[in-house]
Amino acid sequence: MLGSVVDYLSAFEEKDYQTSLGILTKRIKPDPRASAELLLYLIENPEKTSSNAGLVEFVGESDLENIFQNSLPALGMSRKEAEESGLMIAYITLEDLSQRAPSLFYPHLETLWQKSKEDLEEAWQDCGTIHHAQLVNFLENLPSPEGQEEKFQVYANRNRALRRLEMSNCTQGFELAKKFGAPQETVLSVIDDQWVSVPNIENIYLLENAGVEWRAGQWHQLYTAASYHFRFPEEAFRTRDDFESRFENPSWRLPGNSGEIRFGGEGVAGCTICGKESHHLFTLDVAPPGIPISTPVIFETCLHCMVSNRPMYARHDAAGKPDIWPSYQMFERDYEPEPLPEMNVILAPTPTRFFRQHDGYEQNESRIGGVPDWVQGPEYEQCPVCGKRMQFLSQIHNGLFYINTAIYVFWCNSCRMSAVLNTYT
Ligand SMILES: [Zn+2]
Ligand SMILES: [Zn+2]
Repeated sequence: MLGSVVDYLSAFEEKDYQTSLGILTKRIKPDPRASAELLLYLIENPEKTSSNAGLVEFVGESDLENIFQNSLPALGMSRKEAEESGLMIAYITLEDLSQRAPSLFYPHLETLWQKSKEDLEEAWQDCGTIHHAQLVNFLENLPSPEGQEEKFQVYANRNRALRRLEMSNCTQGFELAKKFGAPQETVLSVIDDQWVSVPNIENIYLLENAGVEWRAGQWHQLYTAASYHFRFPEEAFRTRDDFESRFENPSWRLPGNSGEIRFGGEGVAGCTICGKESHHLFTLDVAPPGIPISTPVIFETCLHCMVSNRPMYARHDAAGKPDIWPSYQMFERDYEPEPLPEMNVILAPTPTRFFRQHDGYEQNESRIGGVPDWVQGPEYEQCPVCGKRMQFLSQIHNGLFYINTAIYVFWCNSCRMSAVLNTYT
């Protein structure tokens, strides 16, 4: 196969190269082996293009190590250094691999940390204790800063080390991040219908990058290990003229079936903020395994009023019907948002490789459960009734239809409260 890839590409003059590469890439992507061979060819011939054509997504698991080994010359380089050394494709490929397969980087974490403190942070994801000793050593020996600029630098490096401890995603890492992290002296609480800062008498400690919270003597994970992607019906794709190129990522057509849910359409609750109709997100009649929710629950929002930087809360009755709570922010509607297209969606169990997702891959990120992909920084909401941090339940991202970047849904099962947060760029 590699022979024919090379023949095909070398038959084109420079000016046709991008076009021929584009056509070839599109044809090759459904074939994991051929995708690996083309990617290797691009890494070895970096002078013709500066893109890896997003091929890491399409390479099979068994070829990732080989791709990694071939990209290693760029490891520890900054983007600028890679550019100057003609290793840009290897550099981008390492970036992609750090998100797709962080474990490949575990033997190199100290090198990465020493050489380049900014880049390839995802390489630390789920690494456990293996790099803790060096990070602790770093945190224990921070220099005492002199000027303002140096102060800022020390602060930034300290935060990077703390983030990596969080990303190691194990109890020891959380303990260390808490030990070396800033004290959290206040927490938010609702008093007289207002969120106010109060002293943190329960010693709650939130690690928002890790999605865990220390409360009542133990660490609580704010997201579930169970995760189900929305598999939208084929008809929904056909409404788009770009469906072939836009939805080629396998995350749009994951196999399996853990139930079917109603998605989109008009809401029933009505929006108490603008006084107009509400919009249905989805209904859970039965909780899929591992999702801690007492069903049924109907999730609704107002696609107009949710456009703020605070969540919209709703309390749900025994039948699941939401009662949207008036927000402190009042809006005059100056446009009428269309409800999301109504359809039935299959819940497909999320494969490991899509458990953590990062914006920018044209992946399907709409799902129930799992870990949120934050478009902005992490923001786990608090329940306005009991004050506890809510469980992350669902995210719906732009893609198949317009939803103004991303909608995050949180749930407090004891209070039957939902929070819908819209984050946009
Ligand atoms: Zn509204
Ligand atoms: Zn609650």
